[in-house]
Amino acid sequence: MSPSLLAGLALARPSSWAPLTLRGDPEWWSRALDSGAVGVGVRGEHLDVDGDRLRWRPISAEDAGRSVLLAEHGDRIRVAVLTDEAPDWPSLREVGSLLDDEDAAAATAAVALAQWHHRHEHCPRCGALTEITEAGWVRRCPNDGSSHFPRTDPAVIVLVRDEQDRALLGRRSIWPEGWFSTLAGFVEAGESAEHAVVREVAEEAGVVVDGYGLKYRGSQPWPFPASLMLGYHAWTIPDSPAAEADGEEIAEVRWFSRAEMSELAGAGEVKIPPSVSIARHLIEDWFGAALPGQWSR
Ligand SMILES: [Zn+2]
Repeated sequence: MSPSLLAGLALARPSSWAPLTLRGDPEWWSRALDSGAVGVGVRGEHLDVDGDRLRWRPISAEDAGRSVLLAEHGDRIRVAVLTDEAPDWPSLREVGSLLDDEDAAAATAAVALAQWHHRHEHCPRCGALTEITEAGWVRRCPNDGSSHFPRTDPAVIVLVRDEQDRALLGRRSIWPEGWFSTLAGFVEAGESAEHAVVREVAEEAGVVVDGYGLKYRGSQPWPFPASLMLGYHAWTIPDSPAAEADGEEIAEVRWFSRAEMSELAGAGEVKIPPSVSIARHLIEDWFGAALPGQWSR
């Protein structure tokens, strides 16, 4: 998977990304906030966006206490301004693939941090209200001194292939007929990512894949609210049982050859995930080409 395939959800943070070392320097932080800092508003997964760009505005004095450091542009910093207001902003899900790499990196971090702050106001040890420190990247408990960091929950997402090099896709129970995507699930406590792939595929689709033959294809932050998707291709073992949906989370599973996918998606009978998602890239990676926008759901 090339970086350009993930445009809109960049593989690497841009060179302007503010280094970790700055976060722990409160004097630098307050000076930087007073020196022409600009911020983008964020509420949950919604962002202040103007077309295909984030709307960076000068921050106000009251924004300083609810700002999170993102990037440095020359002698100015860029921050995310956490807000509870409810303006009519679009979701990162809608605009993620429109943004350039720099804005996408900022938007993804802003959404991840906004959701974490919103859900972790209280200390998990003693219940006290925690305070925002380290330029917005840590919450500290004034009662017991414990520090709390943004969570990232790993999940696996996998395109399964068989000996005919067909792709196994599933339709979730909550989706309409014709929507198909790769299989996915969270990594459980104490589990390796490889084991999670084998387990999820067996649970959701009834087939057995070779856990030692997985091909890692890249990852994607998915801050809805806190996932990191680890993307794989997997191959069924020779005597794998036939594919069968679990009937609960997954309503239908189906093997697609490239010709079948072209025919069905071209006719609008099958829809695949939009280009913002790593699922789309796992499918295109198998198919061997970027696929038409009209195939997206
Ligand atoms: Zn505490």
